[in-house]
Amino acid sequence: MRYFLAIIGGGPAGYTAAELASKAGKDVILFEQTALGGTCLNVGCIPTKSLLYGAKQYYNATHAQKYGVTAGNVTFDFAAMQKRKTIVVRKLVAGIRQRLNNEHCTIVNGAAAVLSRTDEQVTISCNGETYEAENLMICTGSTNFVPPIPGIQDNPAIWDSTDALAATELPASVIIVGGGVIGMEFATLYHELGVPVTVIEAMPTILPNLDQEVVQILLDKYRKAGINILTSTKVEAIEGNTVKLSTNELPSTLSSQHSTLSADKILVSVGRRANLKGLEALTDIELNRGAIMVDDFMKTNLPNVFACGDVTGKVMLAHVASRQAEVAVGRMLKQIPLQRIAYNAIPSVVYTNPEIASVGLTELQVRDFYTEMEGEAGIAKAGGIETFYEVKKLPMTFSGRFMAENDGETGLCKLLIDKRNKTVLGAHLIGNPASEFIAAASFAVRMGYTVAEMQQVVFPHPTVSEILHETLNG
Ligand code: NAD
Repeated sequence: MRYFLAIIGGGPAGYTAAELASKAGKDVILFEQTALGGTCLNVGCIPTKSLLYGAKQYYNATHAQKYGVTAGNVTFDFAAMQKRKTIVVRKLVAGIRQRLNNEHCTIVNGAAAVLSRTDEQVTISCNGETYEAENLMICTGSTNFVPPIPGIQDNPAIWDSTDALAATELPASVIIVGGGVIGMEFATLYHELGVPVTVIEAMPTILPNLDQEVVQILLDKYRKAGINILTSTKVEAIEGNTVKLSTNELPSTLSSQHSTLSADKILVSVGRRANLKGLEALTDIELNRGAIMVDDFMKTNLPNVFACGDVTGKVMLAHVASRQAEVAVGRMLKQIPLQRIAYNAIPSVVYTNPEIASVGLTELQVRDFYTEMEGEAGIAKAGGIETFYEVKKLPMTFSGRFMAENDGETGLCKLLIDKRNKTVLGAHLIGNPASEFIAAASFAVRMGYTVAEMQQVVFPHPTVSEILHETLNG
């Protein structure tokens, strides 16, 4: 049988594309070497959030006095948390299989490899069988990047995020190399469960891609709570469970006697790289910095080959992957009007406690944008960069619901507004549960709503989401 579409990889990109193309009546075959759901469902977003929720229950129970509740002898069972996580993941994976079965999509469990390709046909091998399809969609995701640090290879003290998620016992102490999204979410998990945590970040700040005013609030809180966060610090070498550090920071931040640190486990989370395994036969596919290059419709330079998700190296988020798949299938099926992805309006959440949620440009990006648009001379002539944009911000404590539920927290809602057309360029929030209402700001950024238009939206009271309305009015 010749399929219309062969998809390699069954993560959010692959399973979304498979479901959509099958629903449209096309013959689709999907290859997945481990479990449907990919990194996000099996060893990423969902297991992390399951464990973080358990940790939050424990943390809240042991910090409930401020709400007038005293819980005696609160304990936790990490193995039980892990068991529950596995059940959650299994149910969700089964749900995806069911949805694909309902659409009569063929699923092959095995590692697929492209054997050959012409503009008319792609031939794929898997488990000793060969399969033919008119089109190929590459959704092979990404793998943990292992930095070239001496002593990292074959070291039983080293964990990546997959090892950490699989462990049935907590480490006695942990050093986390990389203060990015994965690093800070695991720092939260371990800290809330009482494990001593050190975070080592090479850049001058943790979460360097986020708005730094918001990040500073998290940094201050975590440092005060006892998480040891070393910025501008690099790991030079690792020996057993000891890391050797080099730092650009002032000696007062890290004195020379602290130039080595030891912990039970060393979790390395310094980014991920596109996974190109099985694609070796596509010798003429264009890459950009090790990831597959795609156009606005997720087409590669090869006419019948599309790529979606982390393998494109664009924005490594599950919701970006599934949106890319929607765009790609629309293009493949020539559905008019063709859609594009609004990369300027991708929300992102970091599940620290408090949560950070953002969409659109950070203040630094806004400044870079106008500087590039206007040139230094244009900026000076206009009277400074602040003449182009406005920052509106309020502590989350302006929300009654936030005050009622977040004792001791201040939070922040920061909105960046274009001064000329009054549209919202970016929203940056810290405070629980920012993850649950960042979508409202995403609407504004995506649709180009003006402040006046957003002010007409009624937000339910009392909810923390009202902070968006309050900040716009401020
Ligand atoms: P990341 O790029 O977010 O962070 C890596 C961090 O490591 C950076 O801050 C970087 O400066 C630092 N770093 C790099 N080399 C270093 C070194 N040698 N020593 C010390 N620090 C070093 O990558 P990640 O945290 O590994 O996450 C991978 C991907 O997964 C990201 O694209 C992320 O967005 C995604 N992810 C998203 C979520 C979410 O949406 N909540 C959760 C987890 C992961």
